This record gives sequence, C-alpha cells and structure tokens, in this order.
Amino acid sequence: MNQRIRVATKNRAKKKSPAIVQTAWNLKSLYKNDDDPRMDGQRTAIERASYAFINTWENRSDYLEDPAVLRQALDQYEAWKRFYGSDGDEGYYFWLRTQQDQNDPRLKARFNKIEEFSKKIENNIQFFYLRLARINPQLQRRFLAYDGLAKYRHYLERIFAEARYHLSEAEEKILNLKATTSYANWTKMTSGFLSKEVRPVINENGIEHFKPFAEIIGLMNSKNKRVRDSAAWAFNDILRKNVEVAEAELNSVLAHKKIDDELRCAPRPDTLRHLADDIDSEVVDALIGAVAERFNIPSRFYALKAKLLGVKRLAYHDRNAEYGVVAKRYTYEKAVSLVYSVMNNLDRQFGAIFEEFIKNGQIDAHPRKGKDSGAFCIHHLIIQPTFILLNHAGKLHDVLTLAHEVGHGINNELIRSRQHALDFGTPTSTAEVASTFMEDFVLEEILRGSDDELRLAIMMQKLNDDVSSIFRQVACYRFEQELHAEFRAEGYLSKEDIGRLFRKHMAAYMGSAVVQSPGSENWWVYWNHIRYFFYVYSYASGLLISKSLQNSVKQDPAFIHNVKEFLSAGLSDSPKNIFMKLGVNIASRRFWDEGLDEVEKQLSETEILAKKLGKLTISRTGSKEV
Ligand SMILES: [Zn+2]
Repeated sequence: MNQRIRVATKNRAKKKSPAIVQTAWNLKSLYKNDDDPRMDGQRTAIERASYAFINTWENRSDYLEDPAVLRQALDQYEAWKRFYGSDGDEGYYFWLRTQQDQNDPRLKARFNKIEEFSKKIENNIQFFYLRLARINPQLQRRFLAYDGLAKYRHYLERIFAEARYHLSEAEEKILNLKATTSYANWTKMTSGFLSKEVRPVINENGIEHFKPFAEIIGLMNSKNKRVRDSAAWAFNDILRKNVEVAEAELNSVLAHKKIDDELRCAPRPDTLRHLADDIDSEVVDALIGAVAERFNIPSRFYALKAKLLGVKRLAYHDRNAEYGVVAKRYTYEKAVSLVYSVMNNLDRQFGAIFEEFIKNGQIDAHPRKGKDSGAFCIHHLIIQPTFILLNHAGKLHDVLTLAHEVGHGINNELIRSRQHALDFGTPTSTAEVASTFMEDFVLEEILRGSDDELRLAIMMQKLNDDVSSIFRQVACYRFEQELHAEFRAEGYLSKEDIGRLFRKHMAAYMGSAVVQSPGSENWWVYWNHIRYFFYVYSYASGLLISKSLQNSVKQDPAFIHNVKEFLSAGLSDSPKNIFMKLGVNIASRRFWDEGLDEVEKQLSETEILAKKLGKLTISRTGSKEV
C-alpha cells in the first residue's frame, strides 16, 4: 500500500489532476464477467474454509476457558473474515451488478442464489461469537487483561458489553419473535397508512394535481410560496387524519421499548443504542448538552432567513425554503479536478488514494437507465476494493456528493492499511466524519471562487443543512428523552400530550423567527427516526466531530496527522479512547463547542455578507423572493 502511494505521489508532480480513463466501475478485479468460471471454484473454497473453521471449533469449549486457545481461534476467524467471509467475491460482485442494473432479473436471481449460500454458512458459524458473548464476567476480565489477546481487545469488549444486557437464549428467541407483532407491525401500519394518502397540490404552473404523500413532502421545499403552502396544507391534513392511529401506535412502541429495557435491566432508554454504536453515554450527554446550550445559533439563522425572504416570521413549513439561485454547472471532469486539488492540499495521501479510485475504475459517475439513484460508497471484505456510485448531473450538490463519497472511500483505505478484518469498519457515531470533513473543505474552495451573491446563496443552503443535521436532530433527541420519561411516568400519552412535548422541543431550537404553525404539533406522526430510538444524535456527532477537526486543521495544517490517526482507527477502540490517545477529550463539552464555534463563525460571516449586499435593509424587503 505504501509503495503504491509513493509512486502515485511522484506522478502527481507531473499532472494537476488525475486523467479520467473510465467513468463506470471496473469489476474485473473481482470477475471478468457474470459467467466467470472461477466462481464455482471460489464457492468450493469458501465452503472448505468455512467448514474447516466450524468443524475445528464447534465441539470444543477450551477457547472459552483458555485465552491462549482463544487467540488461535480468533486468528483463524479473522483469516476467514479477511479472505472468504460467507460470500467472498461473488456476493460483492453480484450486489454491485444489481446496483448497476436494477431491472435485470437474471442479476437479481444470481444475487439471491449467493445470498442463500451465504446465509447457510452464517447460521452455522454464528455459534462462535454467540458463545463468546456468554463467557462469564470474571473470565471476561481475565481475557481482556491477557497480552496475547490485545490485538482483539476491543472486538471482545464490544461483544462482552452487549452481552451484559442479553437474556437467556430461549428468552432472546421469544423477544425476537414477538418484536414483529409488538413493534414492527405497528410502525409499518402508520407509515403504510401515510404512504397511501393523496391530496390535491398546486404545481409550479398553478394547476392542481393529486400527489402522493412522499411527493408532497418534497414539494414543501419548493421555491414557490404557493406550492409550498399548498403542499403544507395537504401534509398537515394527512397527519391530522392519521394522528389517532399514530397515538395508539406510538404508545405501543413506547411500551414495547419500556418492557425490553426492564427485562434487560438497561439503566436508561438510550443505553442500548449507545452500546450498539460503541459510544459512551457520557459522550452523548456532553454532545446533547453542548448543542442545546447553543440553540441561539439556529434561532439566529432562521431570523436571518426570514429577513432575506422578506417576511417577519417563517411558517413552520417554510424553514427549508431555498434562498437565492445556485445555477453554476460542473462537468464531472471539473468536479474531479476540484475535489482532487482540495484533498491533495490537505494531505498527499488523500490525493493519492483518490487518484487510485479514478485510475482503477472504482467510481461509477454518471446516471444511466436501470442504475441505482443517489450515491454511496461501499466496502465488503478487507481485501476487496472500495466502490463508489454517483449520479453526477453537474450541479454544485453533485460536486459535494463526490467529495462526500470519496471521503468515505479514503476512510476505508486508511482503516484497511492499519486494522485487521474484525476491526474493518466505522461505528455509527463517527461514520460520517470523513465524508463531511472532505465535503466542507471542498465547499470552502468553491466559495473562494464565487461572487458575493452566489456565496450568500450557497452559505444559506449549507447552514440550512448543518442546522438540520445538528440542532434539529439534537432537539429531536431531547424530545425522545422526554417522551420515554413521560410515558414511563404516566402509562399513556394522548396525541395532545405528544404534540405538546414535540412543539416544546421544536420551538426551543427554532426560536421566535419560526411560527409553530397550526398542524406542526403533529409532525412527529411521520418522523420515522423516533421509532428507531435515539438514533438521531449520530447526525450531530459525526458532523460536529468533523467540524471540530476542521477547526483544528485550519489553525494548524499539521493537525491533519491526527485526523488521519483517527480515520485509520476503524473499530479498534471506542471513539472516546481513540481521541484520548490524540489528547482530545470528547466527553467534555469544550470539544463539542469547538465544532459549534465553526458553525457560528459561518453564520456570522453570512450575516455580514447579507448586510454588505444590502439584503437586510427595510427597502429591500419589498422585493422578496418568497
Ligand atoms: Zn455519508
């Protein structure tokens, strides 16, 4: 890996940005085509490797007692995960192929076949970590202290920590089976009812059309005030119609969660979420506390937006209305060259990794019929290449998406170079750090080359996104906390009770520039995330860690070394400990404040820019863009 990067870095001196040879995936590093004869041989190899492991360990218990034997078992397990897994190259290959062409039933069939093959192996091999989880606490401590197991310490810690809240095998089975009727069917019912609703909505030409619920949500962000208002009326009408059902549903879901937590003896409603995400509760508490103390930032932002849109206060559904026009276009070549130069300036290894992605055909860039929409970055086995899917259409947003996905890709390569197969990955709490880090630096470069009007429009869009990811999600987290606490205290919550709590937390971060318009008290009805329990903090944690790191790099470019250390750590330790080794305490509010300072700085710059352009004077409010 180092060798390859050194060569690539040398090449860099000769050319400004990588030559784009191919803009579709080159999957030849996996197979030469869909009927590559190597597939059969590889399946046999996967089976042989899997059952060699299973047959060696399934009937033994010494690895559960002797740490030296466990080390041997883990080495073999790691090698299996590294070279084979349960589906090898074939599973990865056909998954990628189905993303390239979603309408080809032959590809789907091939993927289903390998998935079936893989499930059998997964079922047969899972005894290994399920039994590890059942090692008694005293032995667990001995294993964790044993030098020979240092390599796998955090892998074991993760398994042991979750095991603390496991029940007996039989009880777990019952809980699993009952979850469908006491949880999943309820949430599916509400979202199913909502998705069936249609209402008449005015389009851009002023004509009324019947639109389904999913489309109505999107129309509330239209630049056209009449369209927005009409969509909001329809949206609120649908929620009002379904709020009774949602009240019954949410009460069941809250009861389900309460029962689970009591049976598992979880001390707090959010404990199991934190455990699953490998983040300490004290870190999340510091994050939530720090963000809530800075709710003046989103309030100031909405006040600025109201002024720019020429209104006294924004209606609840107008919060996300776009301000200004961002019409600049970017070809894919231009986007690559821009993103490359930013990454290369930050760190030459970043540039070199991106260059390899381009050279090896690891990025599928353009929209095509049948191709998956949106964008993603995917990895599978540690020895297989990363692949990135884009649908580049030439907008500013597409340039940022490229930066975002390549950020994920760089993160993968850094982890790959330093960690073993059992620590290859990122915890949910920090999964979006690398991506948003790159995105923000690229945005800054774009802003440098923009005139003031464009700059203002871009900054407003960016702040809108950041406010939603950080402050709105933290407000939602606090709503969830109070929702579970009140339910547990009262036994049942009416739709009015839920609406009152919801409105209180939304008003807290939006401030007085946003009206809590009639109907907005029901918006919890469609907010799916609250049904996943305390997941939303991760939007804020990823982005704020990223902002805090950006802040440090801006003050001292050499800090990029620490950023790389963090991005290389994968699952080898908890985010708190990884940062501790870099001398940073993320359980302190100070850390989160640094990220928040970065957002506030951008807001202040935007306010000054708006003033400079004369957008905030009373005479201008007549020519509003609402
Ligand atoms: Zn992402």
